[in-house]
Amino acid sequence: MKFNNVDFDTYFKNYPDENGFFGKYGGTYVTPELKKAMDEITEAYFTICKSSKFITELRRIRREFQGRPTPISHLERLSNSLGNVQLYVKREDLNHTGAHKLNHCMGEALLAKYMGKKKLIAETGAGQHGVALATAAAYFGLECDIYMGAVDIKKQAPNVARMKILGANVVEVTHGLATLKEAVDAAFAAYAADYENSIYCIGSVVGPHPFPMMVRDFQSVVGIEAREQFVGMTGELPDAVVACVGGGSNSMGMFSGFLNDPVDIYGVEPLGRGTTLGDHAASLTYGEEGIMHGFNSIMLKDANGEPAPVYSVASGLDYPSSGPEHAFLHDLGRVKYDVVDDEETIDAFFTLSRMEGIIPAIESAHAVAYGMKLAKKMGKGSVLICLSGRGDKDMDYIIEKYGIR
Ligand SMILES: *Cc1c(COP(=O)(O)O)cnc(C)c1O
Repeated sequence: MKFNNVDFDTYFKNYPDENGFFGKYGGTYVTPELKKAMDEITEAYFTICKSSKFITELRRIRREFQGRPTPISHLERLSNSLGNVQLYVKREDLNHTGAHKLNHCMGEALLAKYMGKKKLIAETGAGQHGVALATAAAYFGLECDIYMGAVDIKKQAPNVARMKILGANVVEVTHGLATLKEAVDAAFAAYAADYENSIYCIGSVVGPHPFPMMVRDFQSVVGIEAREQFVGMTGELPDAVVACVGGGSNSMGMFSGFLNDPVDIYGVEPLGRGTTLGDHAASLTYGEEGIMHGFNSIMLKDANGEPAPVYSVASGLDYPSSGPEHAFLHDLGRVKYDVVDDEETIDAFFTLSRMEGIIPAIESAHAVAYGMKLAKKMGKGSVLICLSGRGDKDMDYIIEKYGIR
């Protein structure tokens, strides 16, 4: 299928190009030292990850450890309450550790093992990526250093405990504002100093090449499974596919299965408290082109051109940019990006819990809220939503802030 002169029959061969670009977005904007490390990972990715031995081992891990394939559930009661459109969810909440993040962490850690690395290094904000990576490190018997701002360590006590129980070393970062940005810098510095023994594991389809490509490819299992399962269940393709977009990994995984199909694709960004800069994290909707964290994409900037402060009720979505492939698909128009705010999200959180017995992660509730709005607008057809994770991690916060609705 051709869309605005891009041929989606051969899309995955051509995007990204050999320098890691999706059109003008992507690339490797890092120091020469880190560029060497990125080139080593790229080379290893193409030789190791494309080998049948690696693919067979990752498939076995997905089946026997992660519990894949995850099912698709038909939301019958919710669909009927809204009208004639049938809503379905891809259940990444049932993936081991309760979210999609383990899909790329297991791939990255298996690559590390094949490369002979001893240690996994990453930063984490809310702790979700740290927990998924610590799980992968424990599985493969690798060391794991997770850099985390002192402020976040205080806020995210349960995830810090999980990482420690799994054997990870949580490194407290105290300089600057002591949050995610400082943790990213500290983790990159530690990796640059020790890249012969370690590998950096990015938590989404962001960062310098090859990470946006590699994380997308590891997440593509979501879209491949979902397409086959949906056709098996209903005999046809969904009319629309929906996923929430933070950095953009669960959405890229899901979308990659449907880019070459006559299916409308929607990426949902967090509008938070409203459209004022600082009150949301809708980077593709309101941002502009810029370079940060080693890649060119669309981002939210402050008056000085630096990454702007962002906010969302979902801590997994509050990132001032999104992956370069999303920026490319945004400009191309193949994926439509839209927003839902905190209120609509919390409503969807309770509605899905009450009507279907599924408590979603607040991140995923953004996609559910948008799917519900879309169902009312479409009037007929079907919508497949990526339910990126379960809401157990969010329950205390929801009860404290919103009470029981
Ligand atoms: C981290 C996270 C997200 C956001 O990350 P993406 O890379 O945009 O997928 C979404 N949902 C859940 C449950 C998460 O943990």
